[in-house]
Amino acid sequence: MKKQIVIHSADPDNLDTWVKYSNGLCDSCHAVCCTMPAEIRARDLVRMGLLSEFDLETDLKQLARGLQKQGVIEHFNFRHGLFTLARRANGDCSFLDTRTRRCTIYEQRPDTCRNHPQKIGPRPGFCPYRQEQAGSSRSR
Ligand code: SF4
Repeated sequence: MKKQIVIHSADPDNLDTWVKYSNGLCDSCHAVCCTMPAEIRARDLVRMGLLSEFDLETDLKQLARGLQKQGVIEHFNFRHGLFTLARRANGDCSFLDTRTRRCTIYEQRPDTCRNHPQKIGPRPGFCPYRQEQAGSSRSR
């Protein structure tokens, strides 16, 4: 009898379908977390090389407008000092490699991305895991 392969595919909008995170889970995932809005701070933008230390002393609203024009962010919440990273039409973060489904700025990635899903996210400890389809190629 042929063994049935179960492909897990969580719905990012339905927390009940999220799976408990464990080490190595990302290796076979389609990087669904990188299609969710990532809210980051000005300090993250410095680490990403998009702002300088000097910029932090200036008008964040004006900086946000410039970053929006460059297509780096899609929204700025002045009250909370949160920038939302820009996404492509299919929802992918603009820093995600479309072929490998890996972050292109991994070493400089924002704190939000570093702390998801263990500490940050709508259901800490769980993630919207979607298994890669067989045959798709990925490499770190
Ligand atoms: S910055 Fe990198 S880790 Fe963060 S959402 Fe974008 S692709 Fe994913």
